[in-house]
This record gives sequence, structure tokens and C-alpha cells, in this order.
Amino acid sequence: MSSAEEQVVTSEVRDGIATIRLNRPEYRNAQNSAVTYALDAAFVEATNDDAVKAIVLAGNGKHFCAGHDIGTPGRDIDQSFERKAVIWWDHVGAEGVDSRFARESEVYLGMCRRWREIPKPVIAMVHGACIAGGLMLAWSCDFIVASDDAFFQDPVVQMGIPGVEFFAHPWVTNPRAAKEMLYTGDRMSAARAYELGMVNHVVPREELEERTREIASRVARMPRLGLALTKKAVNQAEDLQGFRAGMDSVFGLHHAAHAHNAEVQGDSLAGVNIKAIRAESK
Ligand code: ZN
Repeated sequence: MSSAEEQVVTSEVRDGIATIRLNRPEYRNAQNSAVTYALDAAFVEATNDDAVKAIVLAGNGKHFCAGHDIGTPGRDIDQSFERKAVIWWDHVGAEGVDSRFARESEVYLGMCRRWREIPKPVIAMVHGACIAGGLMLAWSCDFIVASDDAFFQDPVVQMGIPGVEFFAHPWVTNPRAAKEMLYTGDRMSAARAYELGMVNHVVPREELEERTREIASRVARMPRLGLALTKKAVNQAEDLQGFRAGMDSVFGLHHAAHAHNAEVQGDSLAGVNIKAIRAESK
């Protein structure tokens, strides 16, 4: 891993558990592409390391993740990266849908799908904010353990967009809860997320690390192949319930929305920036 990647994602292995952490705490761990590729590299390393039996994904600082980077000085949407998730041309140098579709297929939808298929158990350990792109990260994991101060939010309907790119909302909650979450853009508390079955456990903030490690350690005692096949089995069941095909169809709607914004307002995000989202979020 390069030193630049080490700055935005950290990784440590202890007692069979790899803990991978987003590390842009000054920007509430907003994900730029540098983060995406550093995360991917850390996941690959943990997968290749036979000493790692389970993976925990967390965020350094006060929050798990505030979403995709739509306004920090490290925003890097105009940069090229070697593609890992899909075979497609580079978005850099392309225009309009040609550029957006290429980029989002790779760094958003493709990467989350790739991480959902990591053959080792992955547990999201969520505290504080888990917003939009942060949801995609947590939802790509097998379990979510949340602290009682965690909240979940997808405010992108205010950009005229029907949810984030990894559109799992109706499957990880239920259709009515998904609509409410999206229509209002409100924060969903950890307690409510637990009621809906979106998170596995809600624990006091000060116990989050310990309780998550405890669960990861129990899982880590199972045989490697047994876990990998079980993960595939449940993911396949979800896909047979329309998870994958549904997400593909919504990805088209998502890009219709970006294109509409660009056509009508001259900006694919409808002029909504990070400050506006923070001000309007409640
Ligand atoms: Zn998008």
C-alpha cells in the first residue's frame, strides 16, 4: 500500500481479525476515489492473508462515514485510477453520461458489489453518521453492529436522485421504510434500524469495539470454506429475491436523474453541495 493510501485508510491485524478503518476524520470520512481504492487494496490484502479469519470495517474519528466526497479539498472525480471492479473505459476525457456511467459503475456500484463478495466475513462497526455513500459501505458488509449514537440517512432525493448507487434500501429495510427514509431524507436512528432488521446489534458507544470484536472472534472460529460458502448462499438467496437485478434497474433511473440535472440545471448533482446537505439534514 502506498503512503498516500495509508493516509486515507488504515489496517491492522490482531488475533485473526483485520480491522480496516476509513481515515479522513477531518472530513467525516468522506469517500473520494483515493479512499475507494485504498479500501479495495486493504480488503484484497485481508482476503489474501491466511491469518485473517474475519474483517471489521470502521471509521476513525467521530463518524463512520458522511458519504461520497462532494466537496472536500481532496475531491478527485477528475482523476484516473486503474479500474478494479468492472471492465470499462476511463471516465476521464469522456463527457456526460459516457463519463458518469463509467465512473459510477466502477467506483460506486461495482466496488460495493465486489466488496459484498469478499469470501471472508465482513462486519461493519458503525458509529455516528452513516450517510448516503456511507450506507453503501455498511450495506456491502455481512453484519452491521452499531453504537447507540449511530444514525443512517440517504438525503439524495433532494438532488432529485432516487437513492444512492448501491440501491439496497428496500431489501435491507422494507419497501415502506425505504420510501419513508428516501422521501423524508431524515436520519434513521440505530434503534429504528435495529427494529427493521437493518443492523444486527445496537450497543453502547463505549462498548462498540469490544462487542464487535467478540462477535468477529466467534465467527472467526468457523472453517474458512464453510464461511465463504455460507456467505455465497445467503447472497445468492438475496439475489434471487431481486437484489441484484433490482439494483441494476435502479442504476438506470439513478443515471436518468443525473442526466436530467445536468440537462436542466447544468449540474448532475442539481447544485446541491456538502454544505447544503448538512444544513438541510436533521
Ligand atoms: Zn450517482
